[in-house]
Amino acid sequence: MPEGCPLSRFSTSDLSSNTGPDQDGVVSAVPAFFPSAEARKQVDDWLTNELALASERVKSGRVSPQATVQDFSARLEAFDFSRPLPSTSVLAWIIGNMIDGIVHVDHPRYFGLFNPAPTFPSQCSDRIASTFNPQLATATTSPFPVALEAFLIRALGHRLGMPSGASGHFTNGGSEANATAVICALTRASPDFATAGARAFSGQPRLYTSEAAHLAWLKIAHNCGIGRSAICLVPTDGHGRMDANQLAASITQDIKCGAVPILIASTAGTTGAGMVDPLGACSEIAKQHMVWYHVDAAWGGALMCSEKLRGALSGIEAADSITVDGHKFLATTMGCGIFLTPHASTLSAAFHVTMDCMPSNTAEWDPYVRSMQWSRRFIGLRLFTSLATAGWQGYAYHVERAVALTQMLKIELIKRGWVCLNDSPMAVLCMRPPAGAASPTSIAQSVVAGGSAWISTVDFEGQSAVRFCITSGETTPADLADLIRSLDNAA
Ligand SMILES: *Cc1c(COP(=O)(O)O)cnc(C)c1O
Repeated sequence: MPEGCPLSRFSTSDLSSNTGPDQDGVVSAVPAFFPSAEARKQVDDWLTNELALASERVKSGRVSPQATVQDFSARLEAFDFSRPLPSTSVLAWIIGNMIDGIVHVDHPRYFGLFNPAPTFPSQCSDRIASTFNPQLATATTSPFPVALEAFLIRALGHRLGMPSGASGHFTNGGSEANATAVICALTRASPDFATAGARAFSGQPRLYTSEAAHLAWLKIAHNCGIGRSAICLVPTDGHGRMDANQLAASITQDIKCGAVPILIASTAGTTGAGMVDPLGACSEIAKQHMVWYHVDAAWGGALMCSEKLRGALSGIEAADSITVDGHKFLATTMGCGIFLTPHASTLSAAFHVTMDCMPSNTAEWDPYVRSMQWSRRFIGLRLFTSLATAGWQGYAYHVERAVALTQMLKIELIKRGWVCLNDSPMAVLCMRPPAGAASPTSIAQSVVAGGSAWISTVDFEGQSAVRFCITSGETTPADLADLIRSLDNAA
């Protein structure tokens, strides 16, 4: 499809039939928005076919984009919303630009951040959700979707070993789930927080997480109104895990200074290196100081599916709340975060509200009175259909396979003189190139520019390293061999 100006490519001859009003101006709908059932099916079938072809093209093409955001901005300047185009022209133009204009996280040689190649059932789910467009704010408006999500939340809570009756909901992502934990912790810590906000506390509220944690915590503290200085980044232990002794010392010191410890957030699967904080020790410290204990398992939580690997999450069952992302290791389409807690009453204390126009207001069922969102998409369907069609065993295989491929890559690179810095039970490696080779940054840049694979760099315990993560469920040993060839050339 075209790279340049879209307008030169398309005819606007059917413009009037596409947008013209009938004589009264109220009888017919806008045809571009609401085509006839027959026209709709035609476009749908065409789109299904185009997307399948695009998917094939992506897998045999470059992983990284063909042009920069400035190039695409310039192309878009040619767009004119006063000159509507036929829908297939617009959609074809978009698909062409998607092929050229993104890092293809669904490419089998994308070894990048935790963005997965999405499962086919989750893609189908998005299509179903888009077709019906259910409103999940209340159980009254969407009894089936709300019941389905509640069922799935209970199943996930059970799988993670939470006490029966685990509550929670789907979020837009891990950041929203982590923010939910902070609001719950603040709400439980002081009965005045709901009305007085941060002024409810006698001193600065404090949240503890490690230096290797996902730094969305800073934004969360800012957004919750307790300020970024609320975050205490506890040093790591030399292996990328929170140092529990330092955690205990920081809390003691803070209390002495009049600060108010609110929450400890351990990470199970750090973003950089897939390390797991000492969950049991952190949980004990939380209990001792009566602070909320959260485990951020946005990526690593997927290990719950595997009997072989789930031991790495041991201790998570004691958490007051847990974050897992469907759209990471569980490979759903984007925007499928999960918040789990055994404290249903704290959730409704934190998010309750009444508004006359809403069809119902029950703490037990209605998502809008127990979560941050109001209008709510059918997020959980993506994970439900994936689990329903592959089962826990399918997910176990998906996760174990990624970990096994990671070990294969590690062994191959060590043979070539690379050094592995992290010892993660998950599917990510932080590796130093052999002595005398190019720097991690220049190796990563060279591989990405070549287009055959996508990797990144990371700072692990003060050392710069190349980061490799198996994120696609379709990566094969042959893809690893390709990657190693690119690395040999770059190093
Ligand atoms: C990705 C990630 C987050 C943020 O989640 P989003 O879904 O991107 O909002 C938080 N914590 C960890 C450990 C993560 O890997």
